[in-house]
Amino acid sequence: MLKLSISETSERFRTSFQEWLENNPVPHVKDDTSLDEFQQVGRNWQRSLSSGGWLGTHWPQEFGGRGLSLVEEAIVQEELVRVSAPQILGLFGLTMVGPVLIAHGNEIQKKRFLSKILSGDEIWCQGFSEPGAGSDLAAVKARAVPVDGGYELSGQKIWTSFAHVADWCFVLCRTADSARKHEGLSYLLVDMKSQGITTRPLQQISGDKEFNEVFFDSVFVPSENLVGKEGDGWKIAISTLMFERVVLTFARQLQSETALRELLARVDADTALTTKVDLARSIVDACATRALAYSHLMDYAKGAAPGPEGSLDKLLWSEAFQRLCKVALAFDGGDVALGEHGPENGADVHRYLYSRGRTIAAGTSEIQRGIIAERILGLPRLKHQLG
Ligand SMILES: Cc1cc2nc3c(=O)[nH]c(=O)nc-3n(C[C@H](O)[C@H](O)[C@H](O)COP(=O)(O)OP(=O)(O)OC[C@H]3O[C@@H](n4cnc5c(N)ncnc54)[C@H](O)[C@@H]3O)c2cc1C
Repeated sequence: MLKLSISETSERFRTSFQEWLENNPVPHVKDDTSLDEFQQVGRNWQRSLSSGGWLGTHWPQEFGGRGLSLVEEAIVQEELVRVSAPQILGLFGLTMVGPVLIAHGNEIQKKRFLSKILSGDEIWCQGFSEPGAGSDLAAVKARAVPVDGGYELSGQKIWTSFAHVADWCFVLCRTADSARKHEGLSYLLVDMKSQGITTRPLQQISGDKEFNEVFFDSVFVPSENLVGKEGDGWKIAISTLMFERVVLTFARQLQSETALRELLARVDADTALTTKVDLARSIVDACATRALAYSHLMDYAKGAAPGPEGSLDKLLWSEAFQRLCKVALAFDGGDVALGEHGPENGADVHRYLYSRGRTIAAGTSEIQRGIIAERILGLPRLKHQLG
């Protein structure tokens, strides 16, 4: 697989993490592991990694990090994939709300939340999308009304991944009406154990119940859980999405490399030439997406903040992942059999169906292309067509 040359300090960091992994048992989660068991294993594994100092390595030392860069964060992800470790349970906290609190939170919030995000003692979910607000995120209607000591939050979120296991949710909601919909939004940290929250699982085509509908019915949120000022919600939400598209995407893109490695091991004399050509393209995809992601991470290491270039990483990775998962079907004859509980013919089909959602989550491919066109290439916005 692709080898990139990065600084000696970063490579030394990699070696010391590899040594730690040799001395600390890595749990393995079987395909049929129950969600409860996965959670328990995931929480223990995250606690072990964080007590070794291997999570949030780019966070400042005062908040439990090592004050390193996103390159070291990426190295941790790469090494975890190399040893087939399970996905980190608290990924949304580590890659989204944690960096957001460091950038926009007050000292009390940082002290209250950051160490528990690192240790996995508190798991987070992202309450942004609503039935009428996905790509057009600024259209959110969930409303927080000021009451004594805080807000009363009412409304519905949808596609909320892991809401059923999360302890906390970062919510984008409306605190004021405004002619400009990006204004009047605020960013609240909501305790999922609060009275008035109902979570209903949604089943995906892959059979997984990863995401949920979440209903807030007059939920009290204390004013100390407002991030930034009232009305800062849009700015902070965009900052969250930038982190999501860079940091979380890097972790996800490694899934492609695992899938690719597994497929290459299955190639033999009977493999059709067209499949081999498709796999060759997937190798090129993997090299290109990793090189691009690293070039961005190295810019951040020099002090740049994550910006619209994360859309390039997200677009390239998610579309390449879908192509690869489709190639995998050729090894099984190309059939997809769907039953009541999802696919009924194997891991390749499950992964193929799972991959369909990856060009939607964290912003659809069309939205990423729009951002690339306007904010990276500087092309004019087609107001008359897209509204
Ligand atoms: C697996 C998965 C996990 C998710 N997890 C979460 C989560 O944890 N938290 C959360 O808040 N959300 C989550 N989402 C929701 C996700 O962010 C939204 O689905 C996504 O932003 C698209 O919004 P939508 O579904 O409302 O589609 P719409 O916005 O209604 O889009 C429908 C179609 O129209 C196209 N379209 C819309 N606007 C434009 C435009 N301006 N230009 C060109 N084309 C356009 C879109 O590309 C799409 O093809 C998740 C989604 C998936 C699939």
